[in-house]
Amino acid sequence: MNISIIGTGYVGLTTGVGFAVKGNEVSCVDIDEKKVERINLGDSPIYEPLLDDYLKRVLDQRRFKATTDLKSAVMNSEVSFISVGTPSGEGGKIDLKFIDQVSKQIGDILKIKDLYHIIVVKSTVIPETTEKVVLKNLEERSGKKAGDDFGVCMNPEFLREGVAMEDFLNPDRVVIGSIDKKSGDVIERLYENFKAPILRTNLKTAEMIKYASNSLLATKISFTNEVGNICKKIGIDVNEVMKGVGLDHRISDKFLNAGCGYGGSCFPKDVEALIGKGRDTGYEPKLLQEVHDTNMRQKVIIVKQLEEKLGDLKGKTISILGLAFKPDSDDIREASSIEIIKKLTEKGANIKTYDPKAMGHMRNVFPDIEYSKSAKEAIKDSDACLILTHWKEFKDLREEDFKEMSNRLIIEGRRILDRERVFGFDGVCW
Ligand code: NAD
Repeated sequence: MNISIIGTGYVGLTTGVGFAVKGNEVSCVDIDEKKVERINLGDSPIYEPLLDDYLKRVLDQRRFKATTDLKSAVMNSEVSFISVGTPSGEGGKIDLKFIDQVSKQIGDILKIKDLYHIIVVKSTVIPETTEKVVLKNLEERSGKKAGDDFGVCMNPEFLREGVAMEDFLNPDRVVIGSIDKKSGDVIERLYENFKAPILRTNLKTAEMIKYASNSLLATKISFTNEVGNICKKIGIDVNEVMKGVGLDHRISDKFLNAGCGYGGSCFPKDVEALIGKGRDTGYEPKLLQEVHDTNMRQKVIIVKQLEEKLGDLKGKTISILGLAFKPDSDDIREASSIEIIKKLTEKGANIKTYDPKAMGHMRNVFPDIEYSKSAKEAIKDSDACLILTHWKEFKDLREEDFKEMSNRLIIEGRRILDRERVFGFDGVCW
């Protein structure tokens, strides 16, 4: 099938490359010319394991290209996936400016396109957006009728950064919301050779499945942190507790890791957007608000622990290992490290950091802190060391890597150090 993908970020690029790997002809569209140029050279603008290899392969096979030419991409494809960003707007509510813009642009193109075309929303959008914003824009701009002249589907993406290619190619499930059987059937065919259950729904149910999934995962994390904070007060290791809890098959051991809070481009904004949508309907989502508040509090707790141990942080040097919101990613959007560095610098601390992949992005946020070439270099001469991302290379740290600290204080925000190799460290809630 000929496919165009509009918005070539973490989701768009992975989706485009993934569909090309599955034998389709794909054009990925983006407004960022530099991004498009890099992609066409086989150099992924994002760090994502396996992505570069797959990208080079599908470029060589001439089944994939990136372009800034939206019109030609839509005209020459049967299906267009919209995967532009849906960031947090005012008061945490979803900001739909990219979705609004791109659906109007596609509507203009549909007006002059004679062949049947299907538009699929892959971006995470709050329930009713596909119908009330995308479909409405498409009909208004094209002068055509959705369901008759063109198709509209909603196909949320569940991939995790860090394992995005694997997740895209081997999803747990594929959800396809559609306004009519015909367009849903076409998208179902596209996923025919994926070994995953396919769930067919209407548009708003598909949208809500994505929000409910992310909110539940975020809830598991905040719940674990809440239990962890109580455990810490009474000297119980929350990790052992959650191991015991997770063995219950009704619960599972996933997303039961205590730490310094969740971040990333999805959980924080999606939980907030669902709270906003709930309020718009006149319902107050108290549980979700608490999930969000607990998460924000968790990022402050680690700073409080530092103050308890070090006193005034003014002039103290704090080394921070890990800036990305999760390992195997260079993404720092809503990363816990940002909030923590902000708090520490406000208190007058000097910051030395190290991250294997995310320092380039973080320089744009904090140009004035120190960036080191290795974990050991960051740790050297610091008064305390915080570990905020679960990078594998931090797992390998040994006692001698911490020998040159001016004061021995290590607090893990992620459970990672090996007690056999590093003696004496603390955890945010263990
Ligand atoms: P991103 O910011 O990495 O990428 C969005 C891309 O869209 C950018 O490259 C931007 O230049 C481009 N863009 C914006 N306006 C455009 C236009 N008019 N035409 C063409 N391109 C345009 O975002 P992302 O992380 O890939 O997320 C995209 C969507 O997928 C969001 O709704 C997000 O919530 C959802 N999602 C993200 C993940 C994830 O792990 N990142 C997982 C599942 C779902």
